[in-house]
Amino acid sequence: MTAPIRLLPPQVADAIAAGEVVERPAAAVKELCENALDAGATRIDVDLEGGGLVRIVAADDGAGIPGDELPLAVARHATSKLGSVEELAGVRSLGFRGEALASIAAVSDLRLISRTAGSDSAWLLHCRAGELLERRPAARSPGTTVEVCDLFHNTPARLAFLRAERSEAAAAVRAVSDLALTHPEVAFTCRSDDRLALRSPGGSLTEAAAAVFGRNAGELVVVDAAGDIEVNGLISEPRSHRGTRAGLVVVVNRRRVYNRALVAAVEEAYAGLLAVGRHPFGVVQVTLDPTLVDVNVHPTKREVRLREEGRVFGAVQRACWIALQEARLGAAGARLPQLAGAQPTVAGPTSAELELRDGGLVSAAAGLERTPLHQEDHRLADLAPLRALAQTAEGWLVAESPRGPVLVDPHAAHEKVLYTELLAESEAAIRESRTAASQLLLVDAVIDVEPAAMEGVGERLDILNGMGFQLEPFGPGLVRCRAVPAAAGPADPARLVRDLLDSLQGSGDGATRRHRLAALIACHAAVRLGDRLDRHEQSRLLERLVVTPGGLTCPHGRPTVIVLDDRSLRRAFGRPAV
Ligand code: ADP
Ligand code: MG
Repeated sequence: MTAPIRLLPPQVADAIAAGEVVERPAAAVKELCENALDAGATRIDVDLEGGGLVRIVAADDGAGIPGDELPLAVARHATSKLGSVEELAGVRSLGFRGEALASIAAVSDLRLISRTAGSDSAWLLHCRAGELLERRPAARSPGTTVEVCDLFHNTPARLAFLRAERSEAAAAVRAVSDLALTHPEVAFTCRSDDRLALRSPGGSLTEAAAAVFGRNAGELVVVDAAGDIEVNGLISEPRSHRGTRAGLVVVVNRRRVYNRALVAAVEEAYAGLLAVGRHPFGVVQVTLDPTLVDVNVHPTKREVRLREEGRVFGAVQRACWIALQEARLGAAGARLPQLAGAQPTVAGPTSAELELRDGGLVSAAAGLERTPLHQEDHRLADLAPLRALAQTAEGWLVAESPRGPVLVDPHAAHEKVLYTELLAESEAAIRESRTAASQLLLVDAVIDVEPAAMEGVGERLDILNGMGFQLEPFGPGLVRCRAVPAAAGPADPARLVRDLLDSLQGSGDGATRRHRLAALIACHAAVRLGDRLDRHEQSRLLERLVVTPGGLTCPHGRPTVIVLDDRSLRRAFGRPAV
């Protein structure tokens, strides 16, 4: 038998609606900060406990709320930012739905303390699960503090869907980081369980980007294109990149948006500059006539609809492309000596080297389909001994094997050798309950890590330490590196560790993870295609390669050697087979 239809009691209706606006603590943090920004705050301090589930405090120095309006602030559809439907078309404030505080109040224990500049006292309002408990005078300097405790205590179904505390904390820190980038002139701090996760000083975009992206910000390229669709920001140089798209913040009229087309527009500007699966990071701000943007299409305003999306796409892509071209032209002169020089590169790959490398990989892969050579006929053991003959101007090694001349990709070969050694060592270490062999750095490296990536970093450092690193947290946003795995040799520890921490965000069991980490370390530490190797180094590499199981392909499955055997050469030269 079905129950009769009834109107839901307001508290139940509110709790349901609240789920749409505040789906997780990070959403509440974002709403509270946006309110502070709408109130003209110049500094915003956020404190998180237990990933925001235990407690969120957001304090600002904005305009404040008059004591008699406090109950309205937490009422649904009550806003000071919008008066008519017409105004909706050109809305400039971040909020306008009048739903956030009501939603948060419906699913938490909320205290709102606020004082306007003109009044001589602050007022406090206390609600729990949407019910108004108290309103009384309180003490506070002008501005507003919102304290949210026990978020979702009355919606257990919601609680069950949240991720581990540290993921929620990371998302909340990211929400504040996003706002620090969209509003660089405002000073932000964000603490998570008393750890300072972010401090943006309130100044230029460069300063905010430095706070959010850490030392990587030094490698950002300035985007600056005027016009009726204005595009500016800071984007990563092609030589630094990430394994995910999460580091690319796209802002439309000062609102971070998740618009796939605009992210794609930025990525297209990097076409040919980044390897497949690698992504740029940074912040790209688009400013255009607000009537061309519909922000009212998503409950948390994550998505926007753009009129003339094609034109916006073009403007973003062009602006980023021009910025990248200019940066490359400017840097080319400085890099030439390093490329021509005979020393092995100790620092990470330059963009020119990356291009060489990626160009090499692309053409090798593309050529594979067409090649008349039948590589699968060969076993690595058949090629021993491999005798080094020469290195071509482009960097390929030429060697001689019992089966005929052999061409070797030194990067791919070295990568496979290192990968295999790293895996063998880390597996032996696990078997023998010891730490993997490592190599002390002459000077400790202190590594900037993106604040959001510091959440739960201890666990990830443990995994890396098991592979032969000696890493430890070293103050807010910093990790100290004393040693690297023996096989990681000349890789730049800072880039390497940042990339590894990035890749550890992904899933996978212990073994899968070890393979992925070993492949990444090997890729960083291997010689580049353009590096000159002397005859001795060439011989050492080839000796190690022929004893490496599966050494015919690199960890990514690309070939390391091409055998110019007699049969293939005869076919290529149009001679009859013998
Ligand atoms: P909206 O931001 O969509 O108007 P909210 O529920 O987030 O809705 O906030 C309701 C109202 O409370 C706002 O319109 C604003 O007048 C007031 N308010 C909320 N937070 C603050 C704050 N930090 N400083 C000043 N006023 C605030
Ligand atoms: Mg709001």
